Amino acid sequence: MAKIHILDEHIANQIAAGEVVERPASVVKELVENAIDAGSTKIVVTVEEGGLQSIRITDNGSGIDPEDCETAFYRHATSKIMFGRDLFHITSLGFRGEALASIAAVSKVELITSSRDDGLGSRLVIEGGKLIVKEDTASSRGTDFVVRELFYNTPARLKYMKTIQTELGHISDYMYRIALSHPGIGITFRHNDNTLLQTLGNGDLLQVIAAIYGTQAAKAMLPIQTEDLDFNIQGFISRPEWTRSNRNAISIIVNGRYIRNYGLNQAILRAYHTLLPINRYPMGILALNMHPSLVDVNVHPAKLEVRFSKEAELYPFVEQAVHAVLRQEVLIPQPVKTNIGSSDSSFIQEQFRFSKAPSVIDHSDANRADSNHTNKLEQGIANPLVVSKDGVANRPIGNDSVREASAQGYYAKGTTNGLSAPSYRNSQTVNPVMTQELFAQASSGISEIPPFPELTLIGQHHGTYLIAQNEKGLYLIDQHAAHERINYEFYYEQFGQPADASQELLIPITLEFTPSESEQLKQKLNWFEQVGVFLEHFGGQTFLVRSHPYWFPKGDEQGIIEEMVEWVLGERTIDLAKLREKSSVMCSCKASIKANQKLTNLESDALLERLAACKQPYTCPHGRPIVVSFTTYDLEKLFKRVM
Ligand code: ADP
Ligand code: MG
Repeated sequence: MAKIHILDEHIANQIAAGEVVERPASVVKELVENAIDAGSTKIVVTVEEGGLQSIRITDNGSGIDPEDCETAFYRHATSKIMFGRDLFHITSLGFRGEALASIAAVSKVELITSSRDDGLGSRLVIEGGKLIVKEDTASSRGTDFVVRELFYNTPARLKYMKTIQTELGHISDYMYRIALSHPGIGITFRHNDNTLLQTLGNGDLLQVIAAIYGTQAAKAMLPIQTEDLDFNIQGFISRPEWTRSNRNAISIIVNGRYIRNYGLNQAILRAYHTLLPINRYPMGILALNMHPSLVDVNVHPAKLEVRFSKEAELYPFVEQAVHAVLRQEVLIPQPVKTNIGSSDSSFIQEQFRFSKAPSVIDHSDANRADSNHTNKLEQGIANPLVVSKDGVANRPIGNDSVREASAQGYYAKGTTNGLSAPSYRNSQTVNPVMTQELFAQASSGISEIPPFPELTLIGQHHGTYLIAQNEKGLYLIDQHAAHERINYEFYYEQFGQPADASQELLIPITLEFTPSESEQLKQKLNWFEQVGVFLEHFGGQTFLVRSHPYWFPKGDEQGIIEEMVEWVLGERTIDLAKLREKSSVMCSCKASIKANQKLTNLESDALLERLAACKQPYTCPHGRPIVVSFTTYDLEKLFKRVM
């Protein structure tokens, strides 16, 4: 008996559905694409419970003829291509003829459609791929497609569905991209009873950007429009000072299709190059148009990725186009900048700056080999200097702390020549042991963390490592890692008791989110209160930060809050402890001196002093070692003085 047979159509469709219909958002995507291909000028998308209960797409497009209605649900049934050669000239969003068959195989579908203007149409009901009803019905021109109980007959797939919020997130994300790709189509998107998006369909892309990302974002946009023989590019990119904490706000649209493409993303980021702070990303909606023969869309089941035949020309074209717009912008600065960076908060921080009497500072100035970089140091670290009950120890290190250290008499006369440099210890008994061992103990978390060894500074290597010694040996200290640890412990402490440290801002920071993010955020405002950030829903997609802790690293406040919002909305397992932890790491990173920064002896000494006072002075918040050491015996072995 033959062992190999052809699967029946029903199973084949279920298998295909596994590829095409991954989650509710895929259904929305396929059906909206069909509506667009049908020439619709208005599309209404209504989903219930993240699309798991129902998805309804209503359009005013061409509709489907009665004799085609059933065929449309067969596998590989399409009106969009005919011959093999058509595959190389795709001008529609769909072409595989797989979507309806796949969707109908794993859900309960109801279709009402009409291709005529006389009010007559057809109605079909299909459940799990089986035709249940086919009849004439009254219908205006266009198509109304309802998908209920997705994956009701494929429990394994259903089990993988995430929360309603997550599924809604995927759908919203797609709806936003579609609206950005087709500003000429009036798109309404509803979830349960909320309208999450409504575009006019008047072709004004900037209005769509405002509807999705908020008016502040729209105001920060620069138009872009260029073409060469092969490509045409148009859209908007954000001014360099408008940044986001992730790259999700870059949308690339190729011949009307939203796609993901690493190379194009990189080309855009390269164009911004030095204009953006680290880990900040621009926003951009770039519609690329080219001859269909230059792009192969038949490479990805969901058609989210494409292949360009002139990739080598396309990437530089995009990079240069973006770069040209930015260069112009940088050369001709805008008189009115968007309110990023919140000058008001710096005002408040100024008030809380700890300052010492100038006379105290002055006598240590002789030790400042390079006063320029102390400024940098100050910017990088500075702000959270408060006189706290614990005194010096829990404050992040910075120029002011150097001053304070000097005020406390650590830098008695003679320190400048390095001969009688002070030594550092924390208050416990000093018991120098090899740091490798200490590191191992500390990172194993088993034993109690031993006190930091007493060290005397020798100098600094390549603006990166401090060199120190004691009677046991030689120590190298990664200054950036050390600084991060010091700041981390400061911020962790602060995040644990933030309420009274919050400062009312004169001018609140305005944050805008997409409609679906806003919906979620409204439910989660109490999270922020608990870490001292008072966010208030202002209306629509706008939120105001009325106050935040004054010790937030200066200039980074907005970015920090945005990133916190991202965690709270994006991570399913976030809890308060984790938020506190992650926020502390982020703040310490932002506030810390980097490698390749020359420190004066005074600053190096202060850094060691603070490090010694840390609860865990051996690893940075990311788990990397701070100190490595060689015993005198190790050195003797290296030089073969002992065998
Ligand atoms: P494809 O889009 O790849 O052609 P689908 O399975 O998505 O395949 O759809 C099959 C066919 O059904 C389409 O080619 C189109 O002719 C018809 N169709 C689907 N949805 C609509 C719609 N909203 N309006 C008009 N025709 C539609
Ligand atoms: Mg389709």
